[in-house]
Amino acid sequence: MKITFFSAHPYDEKYFSLANENFGHQLIFHKTRLTENTVELARDSDAVCVFVNDDVNVAVINALKAIGISIIALRCAGFNNIDLHNTDKLGIHVIRVPAYSPYAVAEHTIALMLSLNRKTHRAYNRVRDGNFSLQGLTGFDMFGKTVGIVGTGRIGSLTLKILHGFGCTLLAHDIQQNEALKAIGVEYVDLDNLLTQVDILSLHCPLTPQTFHLIDENTLSSMKDGVMIINTSRGAIVDTSAAISALKTGKIGYLGLDVYEQEGDLFFHDLSDTIIHDDVFERLLTFPNVLITGHQGFFTKEALLNIATATLGNLNQYESGKPLINTLHAEQAFASK
Ligand code: NAD
Repeated sequence: MKITFFSAHPYDEKYFSLANENFGHQLIFHKTRLTENTVELARDSDAVCVFVNDDVNVAVINALKAIGISIIALRCAGFNNIDLHNTDKLGIHVIRVPAYSPYAVAEHTIALMLSLNRKTHRAYNRVRDGNFSLQGLTGFDMFGKTVGIVGTGRIGSLTLKILHGFGCTLLAHDIQQNEALKAIGVEYVDLDNLLTQVDILSLHCPLTPQTFHLIDENTLSSMKDGVMIINTSRGAIVDTSAAISALKTGKIGYLGLDVYEQEGDLFFHDLSDTIIHDDVFERLLTFPNVLITGHQGFFTKEALLNIATATLGNLNQYESGKPLINTLHAEQAFASK
């Protein structure tokens, strides 16, 4: 198959080319995002392959249909960036990689928690500057703290298992309960209950109309003063402006983000030579107790190779007319959320 990649970086090219040694597809890589104006780059291709910040909206889907694209491969798990009602309507298949390395994201979540707690991001700079003062670097024991996880799917459940090793009290909220987690002592509670009790909150549910701005002024007001909030899921689950207000008052004591509401204009690009016009993002960077990474939770060697192998395998299934396992339709997708 001829597959045109959008938003492709050198690491995509490296791992897809490696995985493709077992498949033999023709791979064309473009750095640019998929938009109405760039769709034309995929003419004569059988498939397009996109990533999290490619906005596959109605206009883009219509344009893809017009040039004969019949399948869109998401090289990620989340699918909030694609209008599945329209792909269904036009008979375009959509496939994704539901699980490639949940360990990668769960471990990154813990890295954010521990860095914020023990202030390693600040200590790193101090020591390099010859400043060995410990003033302001006080942390807390993870042991005995109450951690709440919203969304106990693949990533949330692994995060809970790691935290179990620290001796934390574990609370969870999900629309479906996982019995194996209860067996290790995780207690499922309703969202309001969880929010009022936690010292640390970590978000692992998908972005849906129900979870959009789940953390807002109202939910923040019910939480403990100085709470730690970690979001490695999708940016818009947290209302960033409300988070900034809560950082100013001390309601949020620590904020770790791997995702950001408006990340599409920033993340995955080197903007170090440009002026960043997003004042909300720039305000976040001024807080010493905010740690932001640019959507790198998934970014391990293992995950990249798994993503490439699974994506090309999905496309092979399609080419050979076999039933598609990792396909997405509007109805199923929203029923499972
Ligand atoms: P998953 O589908 O295995 O788990 C999601 C869980 O959320 C499910 O158990 C589901 O029942 C639950 N859920 C759905 N709606 C909910 C709601 N309204 N309230 C509470 N729980 C709800 O997904 P996963 O593989 O664990 O991934 C979780 C999220 O992590 C993804 O949706 C994606 O947005 C994000 N992600 C981020 C990165 C990264 O690099 N930072 C990488 C992969 C995935």
